Amino acid sequence: MPAEDDGPLAGESAGRRAELAASLSRVRARIADACAAAGRDSREVTLIAVTKTFPASDVRLLHGLGVLDVGENRDQEAAPKAAACADLRPALSWHFVGQLQTNKCGSVVRYARVVHSVDRPRLVAALGAQARRAGREITCLVQVSLDDQPGRGGAPAGRLAGLAAQVAGERGLLLGGNMAVAPLGVPPREAFGRLAALAADVRRVDPRAVMVSAGMSADLEEAVAAGATHLRIGTALLGGRPGLFR
Ligand SMILES: *Cc1c(COP(=O)(O)O)cnc(C)c1O
Repeated sequence: MPAEDDGPLAGESAGRRAELAASLSRVRARIADACAAAGRDSREVTLIAVTKTFPASDVRLLHGLGVLDVGENRDQEAAPKAAACADLRPALSWHFVGQLQTNKCGSVVRYARVVHSVDRPRLVAALGAQARRAGREITCLVQVSLDDQPGRGGAPAGRLAGLAAQVAGERGLLLGGNMAVAPLGVPPREAFGRLAALAADVRRVDPRAVMVSAGMSADLEEAVAAGATHLRIGTALLGGRPGLFR
């Protein structure tokens, strides 16, 4: 990756910067419109740029455009990318949004500030142990499966409150709120409405756990309408990914 100096960007990089600036302003306008329609203040909504499959140079350009929250779904890709961006100031906040194996927790806690995909007791225990070892405090969102099908990760709705309580009781972890991916074949408005109701179960465990991570490129409007506080946006910002990586 070519180093990005303070000087004028080389041709290719300047072109990419312009492309990202344009898509960023389109996404910010969509968020502003969705907030206006929902009677919400857009400052309540954090945009997370999901940069999976895109190079660290794109993360650096987005940082230059004011994006400070970045999401990744695979540790093998995220760890080197976070290292390549560790010099940026203000520092980036890395969000781990993908299904997470317990043997990757030791690596993830070193760069991630927030893990969105906490969906089982064994993962809570592993994240807590690794966070304490690393001397870090990791904000955890409990992921709920809105169609109760395990394929895309997420705990069944009935297990959410128990899992949230486990996170709240685990030293090294902070309960942040909840997260979901809209299931296929269910209207996003309906799915996110269910998520909002489940968020109340999490806040009953800890009233400070107000984060609701929902909404991707195709359904951010529905997510904002349902009360999402964190949007995970990939394609609409960075462009299409090769089919292999979703
Ligand atoms: C890839 C991904 C996103 C971003 O999806 P887009 O449709 O590209 O905006 C959001 N959340 C998770 C969990 C992802 O894996």
